[in-house]
Amino acid sequence: MIEAFVAIGSNLGDPLAQARRAVAALATLPESELQQASSFYGSRPMGPADQPDYVNAVVRLHTRLGPLALLDQLQRIELEQGRVRKDERWGPRTLDLDLLLYGEEHIQHERLTVPHYGMKEREFVLLPLAELAPALVLPCGTPLTDLVARCPRNGLAIIAAAVGE
Ligand code: ATP
Ligand code: MG
Ligand code: MG
Repeated sequence: MIEAFVAIGSNLGDPLAQARRAVAALATLPESELQQASSFYGSRPMGPADQPDYVNAVVRLHTRLGPLALLDQLQRIELEQGRVRKDERWGPRTLDLDLLLYGEEHIQHERLTVPHYGMKEREFVLLPLAELAPALVLPCGTPLTDLVARCPRNGLAIIAAAVGE
């Protein structure tokens, strides 16, 4: 089994409910086991500011799916939860599922870049990830704690306990 981390984001259609539903969907992935889910965080939108605040969380999975098969599953869940792909980058969405880490692998594929290219600068990814894996070292060798220490919080706050707590 490979250990993978997936980031959840939502800012439309009752974002906290969307994020909880996403955790439930991730718990039913084939050939995979949901290990842990972080608290739910409220965060300010990245990019266009004229959109609602986000709810974010991160989950830890163990999976036998290959990285592209896992991406297929994540995109299926996004669509099932009403994601409509628009041209505007970082625009509002019911659900975004990004594959942050897939074991220690570096992946450069037209559909998939792992580690996720933005994770090192995003407080709404780093803080929930650190909740699950405080001692994590990224495949590039950087300790997660270093990234957390230098990342502005931008008002990020826990708004609800993790699923199962
Ligand atoms: P960002 O990637 O900056 O967080 P976004 O999540 O809004 O922005 P999407 O519209 O969800 O971007 O995804 C755009 C494309 O990114 C997808 O079609 C997917 O193939 C590709 N992609 C590349 N790497 C990843 C990854 N690690 N996780 C999820 N999608 C990825
Ligand atoms: Mg994203
Ligand atoms: Mg995405």
